[in-house]
Amino acid sequence: MEDEELRFTVERERMVREQIENRGLKNYRLLEALRKLPRHKFVQPGDEMYAYYDEPVPIGYHQTISQPYIVALMTSLAALEGTETVLEVGTGSGYQAALLGMLAKKVVSLERIPELAERARKTLSGLNISNVDVITTDGTLGYPPAAPYQAILVTAAAPLVPQPLLDQLAEEGRLIIPAGSKSIQQLQVWTRNGSRFNSEDILPVAFVPLLGEYGWKGSG
Ligand code: SAH
Repeated sequence: MEDEELRFTVERERMVREQIENRGLKNYRLLEALRKLPRHKFVQPGDEMYAYYDEPVPIGYHQTISQPYIVALMTSLAALEGTETVLEVGTGSGYQAALLGMLAKKVVSLERIPELAERARKTLSGLNISNVDVITTDGTLGYPPAAPYQAILVTAAAPLVPQPLLDQLAEEGRLIIPAGSKSIQQLQVWTRNGSRFNSEDILPVAFVPLLGEYGWKGSG
């Protein structure tokens, strides 16, 4: 068991160096958090060895834990300093939420599939991460009780940016979202300046669809 944890630590160190640092992400707090957070605890039992691969990994219910680089990139685009309240839409495994929890003050993460939400809650409490709340709801509506958010990360593909999320973004806040078709999207950063929003395209990505009132209609 000890040996196995050591092996995962070595794999994780290599993931950070080869997939994250070598691709240009250098933020020290982010790299430290990635080095610490045991990604293999967020995949399904038996899939631990895939957790540090340079690709997304299935987590059941037709969903995936995103590729490490994409998680790191989206987190770095949020530019967190530790004081923020962050909203995540699409808890999935809880890995992105846990990482945000290490870098911000408070995280609210929304998941539409109750079984995934419950599994993520267990994983997070098993790691003593206590500043992340996982809520089962349609995340395209956001979560007004804890708004406004200094950062919002949407980790599923939206046809358009859901208006409720723009409404819940704090002044100077940053919204990171893959928007486009079901098969390919642009990762975008939206920033708020009063009632005006600016958006910037970062790179093409492929996420699972964001389903719900302000997302894709139907069940997938
Ligand atoms: N961030 C996750 C990976 C996200 S996969 C991780 O770190 O593991 C995308 C997730 O978004 C899936 O779990 C899917 O069920 C969820 N999802 C899709 N539409 C949603 C919606 N409207 N509200 C909340 N969650 C949604």
